[in-house]
Amino acid sequence: MMPVVDEDLCIGCGNCAEICPSVFQLIDEKSRVIDSEACDFFECCEAAEENCPVEAITIEEEE
Ligand code: SF4
Repeated sequence: MMPVVDEDLCIGCGNCAEICPSVFQLIDEKSRVIDSEACDFFECCEAAEENCPVEAITIEEEE
């Protein structure tokens, strides 16, 4: 699974980085994916997606 953050939508609230710091980090008030492969090991990735207030996170299934 590959998490993607739409930086235009992200408001820098920090929810995702708090919920899933292994995958998301707040840098310059935008969420960045620091380890996309970690999404395969941490269920918090989906929780972060669900708790983004502006739906800036999508998780794409890799083929
Ligand atoms: S939860 Fe959404 S809006 Fe908040 S920092 Fe993460 S991507 Fe940005």
